[in-house]
Amino acid sequence: MRPGTIQKIFDDHVPAVEAAYRLDERSRRAAWNIRTCRTPAQGYHIDACPNGDYRIRLNNSCRHRACPLCGATETELWLERQCAKELRCPHHQIVFTSPDSLRAIWRWNRRLFTNLYFLAAWHSLRELLVDPRRLGALPGVIAVFQSWADELPEHLHLHFIVTSGGLSPKGKWIEANGEYLLPVPVLAAKFRGKFLAYLRAAFGTHIAVGVAKPAYTRLVPPPDMSLQQCLNLLNKLGREKWHVQIEPAYAQAGAVLKYAGRYIRRGPLSERRIRAYDGRRVTIGYAHSEKHDRPSFTLDARDFVLRLLSHVPEKGTHCARVYGLYHSACRGKLNQARSKLGQPPYNPETDVPDTHELLHRMFPDFTGDLCPKCHARLQTVTVCRSGPAPPERKAA
Ligand SMILES: [Zn+2]
Ligand SMILES: [Zn+2]
Repeated sequence: MRPGTIQKIFDDHVPAVEAAYRLDERSRRAAWNIRTCRTPAQGYHIDACPNGDYRIRLNNSCRHRACPLCGATETELWLERQCAKELRCPHHQIVFTSPDSLRAIWRWNRRLFTNLYFLAAWHSLRELLVDPRRLGALPGVIAVFQSWADELPEHLHLHFIVTSGGLSPKGKWIEANGEYLLPVPVLAAKFRGKFLAYLRAAFGTHIAVGVAKPAYTRLVPPPDMSLQQCLNLLNKLGREKWHVQIEPAYAQAGAVLKYAGRYIRRGPLSERRIRAYDGRRVTIGYAHSEKHDRPSFTLDARDFVLRLLSHVPEKGTHCARVYGLYHSACRGKLNQARSKLGQPPYNPETDVPDTHELLHRMFPDFTGDLCPKCHARLQTVTVCRSGPAPPERKAA
């Protein structure tokens, strides 16, 4: 469907959803931004030609990460930044899935839960890979958190894109031996143990080794569970098998990053997947159609709104992260590894294009930011914001 379909669906149905459910601040803010993006409610800015022959007034975009109109450029920029660092070696994809019964704790503690989830997965992977009895080297990792599966129900999992090898403490590049990076049961058990220990620690009952202090802000039990019930759940999950999947190494690293980045940073649903909207029902194409026996599924428009809102991250949550050699604190090691792999050193100043360059690379016919007369790049001369928040909730 054309861009703006999700905005139209939200405009048609959010008032009824707000009347029927008590949406939290996170959902209200996302819904308001999606509905008002590029409308006068967001305020406006004036772009002008530096040579003084053209001015244009445009409505502001919302820049909310849940907004389908604002996501694409952000995605591309982030991807370009990661691709510029990329080590020219095969990469594995590892998926760390957390049990469905943890979703209730996540819903009430989105940011802290996500932080601990990332830490547990990265610490498990690092501990096993730097062990001299295994790889004995530090890998590079790009990691992304997703809370949804294909039909947009809640399904918490992490995608890790991991170099198939790493840098040893002596500065040697060590290639992973064999098709798989690590034995899956070993990684799954380590991850389960660490994540449960970090969650227990964050409920304030136990100290976990390896989690930095700020992560200790407390987890709160969901309203229908006591602290003891949460701890019992964690104990029970410690006896179950957890699902971790390691895919064979992909030879082309760039392709893996593009694949991971595309559908991850753009949020649970790109507008291209919406096949039809008749005012009441929304038909959506599967992102992974090969896994289903029909091409699309249909949701009631209100359910569609609720499902999309259920995946909006809490403010300040970083849903995509880099670890090990790809982390900015490891620039020296990254360049050591790049030299071992025959690549020039990474230079963020010259290797990453700015937004303007990128827009023109993505849309070669795009001229919206150039003066129609002299073709100079337009500059924003005035910004008038209307306030970045939705109007206050009316008293009941
Ligand atoms: Zn927007
Ligand atoms: Zn001009």
